[in-house]
Amino acid sequence: EKIKYKKKKNMTYDDDNIFAKILREEIPCKKIYENKYALAFHDVNPQSKIHILVIPKGKYISFADFSENALPKEINGFMKAVGKIAKNQNLVESGYRILANHGQNAGQEVAHFHIHIFGGEPLGPMISKT
Ligand code: AMP
Repeated sequence: EKIKYKKKKNMTYDDDNIFAKILREEIPCKKIYENKYALAFHDVNPQSKIHILVIPKGKYISFADFSENALPKEINGFMKAVGKIAKNQNLVESGYRILANHGQNAGQEVAHFHIHIFGGEPLGPMISKT
């Protein structure tokens, strides 16, 4: 079944961003999990022992875009994937952190919405003081 995505009015999604290329399988990734709405793979530059990125399959620039424009079934499918991956990676008992950077102050580098999953070791303070 094909998913019908809403047309966005105010924001333009860059089809050449690196995660769009991963979704089109133009560049490789170390895939961990996939469902109809989400793809998860290892971060190339891990910031903790386990560092996974989960991205929606739809074209959403950031959390702001996703939370406003994604369909309920996309949000549901995506969030379910995040939880399932953390569970499959045995992170529920030991603990983990999820994070999404939106925009400049958060230092978002890739303009396709993604959630980071960090775990596998104690993660330290929530926000760097440096
Ligand atoms: P953010 O700063 O939240 O936009 O995070 C972007 C993340 O994407 C960083 O942690 C990068 O290490 C990661 N990243 C960039 N290119 C790739 C890639 N080709 N495969 C996997 N992770 C990537």
